[in-house]
Amino acid sequence: MQRCINCKTEFKWKEIYRYLWGHLFNPIKCESCGEDHYITVKGRLTNSMLVILPMLLFGQFLSPFNHMLLSLGFGISVGLIGSLLTPFLVTFKIEETKNI
Ligand SMILES: [Zn+2]
Repeated sequence: MQRCINCKTEFKWKEIYRYLWGHLFNPIKCESCGEDHYITVKGRLTNSMLVILPMLLFGQFLSPFNHMLLSLGFGISVGLIGSLLTPFLVTFKIEETKNI
């Protein structure tokens, strides 16, 4: 799990998860030292890869169902499962820079 770059306190899964869904463009704050962290571009890509891609793929092409709504529900479920794993994989940085 990602740690605070400043004080090495480990972020909680719940904090990262909430951040990924609700505050994608706001920093996540370290509970211990208050340092703001921003998701890296790679982290943002990881998030999309794990959530949106499976959702689209399974919803559109790989669904075992022929029914559109069932496929949609299936795609969303796969995306949600992916999103549960995202907090383990995303990375943060302290400064907000435009560079990758
Ligand atoms: Zn900290």
